[in-house]
Amino acid sequence: MRTFAYSRADSVERAAHATTPTAAFVAGGTTLLDLVKLDVMQPSELVDINALPLKQVEWLDDGRLKVGALVTNTDLAHHPAVKQHYPLLSEALLAGASTQLRNMATTAGNVMQRTRCPYFRDPSAACNKRHPGSGCDARDGLNRMHAVLGGSEACIAVHPSDMCVAMAALGATLTLEGPDGEREVPFGEFHRLPGDTPHIEHDLADGELITAITLDAPLAPAGSHYLKLRDRASYEFALASCAAQVALDGDSIGTARLALGGVATKPWRCAEAEAALAGQPATLESFERAAEIALADAEPREHNAFKIPLARQAIVRALREAARLAGTTQEEQA
Ligand SMILES: Cc1cc2nc3c(=O)[nH]c(=O)nc-3n(C[C@H](O)[C@H](O)[C@H](O)COP(=O)(O)OP(=O)(O)OC[C@H]3O[C@@H](n4cnc5c(N)ncnc54)[C@H](O)[C@@H]3O)c2cc1C
Repeated sequence: MRTFAYSRADSVERAAHATTPTAAFVAGGTTLLDLVKLDVMQPSELVDINALPLKQVEWLDDGRLKVGALVTNTDLAHHPAVKQHYPLLSEALLAGASTQLRNMATTAGNVMQRTRCPYFRDPSAACNKRHPGSGCDARDGLNRMHAVLGGSEACIAVHPSDMCVAMAALGATLTLEGPDGEREVPFGEFHRLPGDTPHIEHDLADGELITAITLDAPLAPAGSHYLKLRDRASYEFALASCAAQVALDGDSIGTARLALGGVATKPWRCAEAEAALAGQPATLESFERAAEIALADAEPREHNAFKIPLARQAIVRALREAARLAGTTQEEQA
């Protein structure tokens, strides 16, 4: 049995300044405690941050929505501002995990959740993410659930979050508090590609705490849809998912935002596909072309080639629904 110290942080400053490199913050505990029990993570100290005042959702003067790090996935999904102005985020959150888990899971914990790669979660397997330099059993192993985008020789583990896919499409900024003070990081730059250092998963320094995530001002009027394809209808991670948002300009697409989950090593914004959609008619042909572009660099392994057509279909279906909703009034959508 491994022992660890436990403490409760009573201020953001103390939480961010007092932690050691081997300490871990615990929020809802739904990821962390599993991984400690599996001996995948071995923190010397758990710093409980649940008493910190990071549970507010508030509009900023510039029209953005600031979400405290400790807002639960349930509260965020059902918050009136999110339901009305960011329905894409609400849909993505409600597609994740189960009611009980969402009641405990927090916004920052969701961003920081670790991969569900079975080789990462098995200390007897080779995994460069868990044990740098040990190899990757997934590359030639059971890789049906693994990434076709953003992988490397060292790692093809998928980032498992649904919420993060919506945030990647909506645009957001993380606020971090650390020993050197506060700083902000654009959401798209926070998660790292594995390259040859898959154990470095994000842009968070030792001791730094996520205090908030601020969503870009809503794109309005727009339609959006989060589509999650998986082996069973609920309580299952995505094989492929797509967050799509479309604002129309007459019969054409004015702005499109697109991100993928379940197929990539980080929440995957499809910038080239978005650019290709702008100014095009909102038709099946335009959506299919965007899907081709989004998956153009996909690299399948032995068991996961099916994810490429699956992700293309997810994009086409999500864009069709987003464009349909963009062409209807809010009253009709309700
Ligand atoms: C059975 C099961 C099914 C699931 N299914 C899905 C799914 O379908 N879709 C999906 O998206 N997710 C799914 N999840 C994952 C779930 O969403 C995450 O476990 C949850 O969001 C993590 O939040 P938490 O607050 O419990 O984090 P914790 O477990 O408390 O922490 C997770 C990590 O984040 C760090 N951390 C927490 N807060 C902060 C902070 N403020 N600053 C810096 N670091 C911090 C911790 O140190 C730890 O490393 C599932 C989980 C389980 C157990």
